[in-house]
Amino acid sequence: MDETFQVVVMGCSGGPREGNLSGYLLSTIQQPEWIAFDGGTLLSGIDKAISKKSLEGVTAAEMLRDHIKAFLISHAHLDHIAALVINSQIDTPKPILGIDPTIDNLRDHIFNGRIWPNYGNEGVEPQLNKYQYVRLPLHEPISIPHTSMSVETFLLSHPRGYPSTAFLFEREGDYLLCFGDTSSDSLEIEKHLARIWKRIAPLIQEGKLKGMLLECSYSHKEAEQAIFGHLDTKLMMLELHHLADLGQISLEGFKVVVTHRKESLKAGEDSKQAIAEELTEFNDLGIDFIFPEQGDRILF
Ligand SMILES: [Zn+2]
Ligand SMILES: [Zn+2]
Repeated sequence: MDETFQVVVMGCSGGPREGNLSGYLLSTIQQPEWIAFDGGTLLSGIDKAISKKSLEGVTAAEMLRDHIKAFLISHAHLDHIAALVINSQIDTPKPILGIDPTIDNLRDHIFNGRIWPNYGNEGVEPQLNKYQYVRLPLHEPISIPHTSMSVETFLLSHPRGYPSTAFLFEREGDYLLCFGDTSSDSLEIEKHLARIWKRIAPLIQEGKLKGMLLECSYSHKEAEQAIFGHLDTKLMMLELHHLADLGQISLEGFKVVVTHRKESLKAGEDSKQAIAEELTEFNDLGIDFIFPEQGDRILF
């Protein structure tokens, strides 16, 4: 199998445990050149990945400082940026890519000299210039600095008025799609997911899209929670059906990594397991669902 991309899971839970929040290291296999897709958890996830031998021949600090070339941040909710902030003390200069609201929120509310030193190159007295903000346009491929990959950016509805982002990564005609937190089109006025489905359906048909990371925060039992800008298992299947119908394509064997499963921490309840069981039960499309754990290495 000629896999193109590798993803190492820094953290994959939707919280509330602070040690396993959204963060994924992504690289092509041919030419290791890592980027971090979200930064909820980083160093603790690198430690875990090293102990699982998903990463070899590097220390955690080397991985962060020398091998991660750029951050791509889906939105500035804390569970997606906590480690980017905390780990920044020892980090080396690199770009942070995101849409305007994400960059503005990092600049104004995080790296502002009060919550944390201003390591950015904008905002209040930028002196350290460790992080260069790169504001991503929508629907237009942009090359990711210091890598051979490009990224195309799409808006997602999270709570309304606070957009999240999906990133379509490309290298030499192969693609991987990574979703930040998202609501379902069925609950939103703006049909952001439909736009993405239209874009990727031909790529799936041509075998160019190697897989996707898509959030599913809740089991259907907790469906009422999905109004807060997330998918539950039923909404996730509804959206994947929409993709299959709209593109008139088969999703048989298509890899979908299920991210952002939230833990309820109620006694006797395993909500992450419940999500996995429901999606397996509801899966009438033959999708290859992957339920990641921290430190795993996934090939696409
Ligand atoms: Zn969020
Ligand atoms: Zn989140």
